[in-house]
Amino acid sequence: MKIIEQMYVDGAFVAPHGDERFALFNPATEEKIGEVRLGDAQDARAAIAAAKRAFPAMRRTTPAERIAMLHALRQAVAASADTLRAAMATEYGAPQSFLAFSVPHAANVFDVAAKTVADYAFTRRVGNAEVVMEPVGVAAAITPWNSNIGFICTKLATAIAAGTTIVIKPSEMSAIQTQILLEALHEAGLPDGVLNVVNGYGHLVGAELSRHPDIAKVTFTGSTTTGREILRSAAESFKRVTLELGGKGPQILLDDADLDRAIPHILASAFRNSGQACIAGTRLLVSRQSHAEVMSRLAQAVSALRTGPSSDPASDIGPMVSARHWERVQSYIRLGQEEGATLLVGGEGRPDGLDRGWFVRPTVFSNVANDMRIAREEVFGPVLSVLSYDTEAEAIAIANDSEYGLQSYVLGTDAERMRGVARRLETGRVVINEAPAGTQAPFGGFKHSGIGREFGSFGLDAFLEPKAIIG
Ligand code: NAD
Repeated sequence: MKIIEQMYVDGAFVAPHGDERFALFNPATEEKIGEVRLGDAQDARAAIAAAKRAFPAMRRTTPAERIAMLHALRQAVAASADTLRAAMATEYGAPQSFLAFSVPHAANVFDVAAKTVADYAFTRRVGNAEVVMEPVGVAAAITPWNSNIGFICTKLATAIAAGTTIVIKPSEMSAIQTQILLEALHEAGLPDGVLNVVNGYGHLVGAELSRHPDIAKVTFTGSTTTGREILRSAAESFKRVTLELGGKGPQILLDDADLDRAIPHILASAFRNSGQACIAGTRLLVSRQSHAEVMSRLAQAVSALRTGPSSDPASDIGPMVSARHWERVQSYIRLGQEEGATLLVGGEGRPDGLDRGWFVRPTVFSNVANDMRIAREEVFGPVLSVLSYDTEAEAIAIANDSEYGLQSYVLGTDAERMRGVARRLETGRVVINEAPAGTQAPFGGFKHSGIGREFGSFGLDAFLEPKAIIG
């Protein structure tokens, strides 16, 4: 049983003022594995005050000094890879494929930020003006449970790159992972107050960060509903905001696609991280003429997926994060049937042979219409909706007919044609044939999937204010 009693403020692990305890579970066994003591609004204010005190010195640092900090952070996270991996497996139940990506990713984001700083023009000439890119002020970050470590590291790396200080409120459901990460980050020896982390509920700690006048910038990753609330409170003091929100990613399977290659890509995108991924491609668009063949191959491939605990390296799909989230995914599987979609494979309840753990049967619905809720709402589980199209133009129209616009996928063989389709899609990223994710390319959403971009120079821009000195 892991008991976490402290928050991290002003360079030290200290007891919070709040004293409510939050239980932590292993989602594969439903066993309680720990408890975290949650901070409250007073703790958030103490962390903001520490970040504010540290800001003047941080803003005076040179790019070279910040690159050195980023390298130290990278080393510290890389050195803890094994313990981080174990914590993510136990507390979150992520399949090995996701762990293999996400732990190295958490370390690499510091390298990417260091490279971005090295290449970035903090001072530029524009006409007769000298434009200086200055840190925006104290930042606050709020992260979701589905990629807690990755987003803590991305947001911290960008704050350091910009020369600012930060207060982070991680997901309360990921406190064991946060604690192990923090112990690693502490080893990097950042100046006191540059990094502050307060565990707590969103409506208390998160809300205080979103409204406090000493926070200049909020960077949030989470649901669209919470993002809207944060945007409202941030408006009062004109905070700069970066919002990375939900998605309902379309996958357009063009009629020239090689199905032997495309089907594994479709499954990887749809069921990535057990379907608990904002970028999951959960709406598959298939041409009517290849519908029958694609459905038969999909049914076969999905039935062959293995659902199980993280400890089994053969597991393709892990458990849902909580009992509540399991219920929510079940309710969408029921809803799909009530709405008249055809249940191709999967369905309600646990997969055969698993009588414990918040496991869901990987599910595919065919004959889905784009006005059904299972085509419009984010399920956040291994549930794929298949829609049919007659023409490429119709496929693009269906793909774009969504409130979301985070990441889409195009699968085919003709590179020019796929680029043509990609140019017409309204999403922050378009992935062609499951190309590897770029680490410097901007990441973020159109429409209700968010505001602003993270990663690389676009992510850094969002932590800076341009100041023009004229004459
Ligand atoms: P969530 O919105 O419920 O919670 C996210 C964070 O916000 C948590 O730390 C939570 O405590 C906090 N929070 C809750 N209410 C708050 C409030 N009123 N004020 C301030 N903070 C508050 O989301 P979640 O369930 O943790 O994560 C899943 C969601 O995140 C999905 O919708 C997913 O698509 C999205 N997501 C988006 C991206 C992206 O990059 N676009 C990446 C990962 C996850």
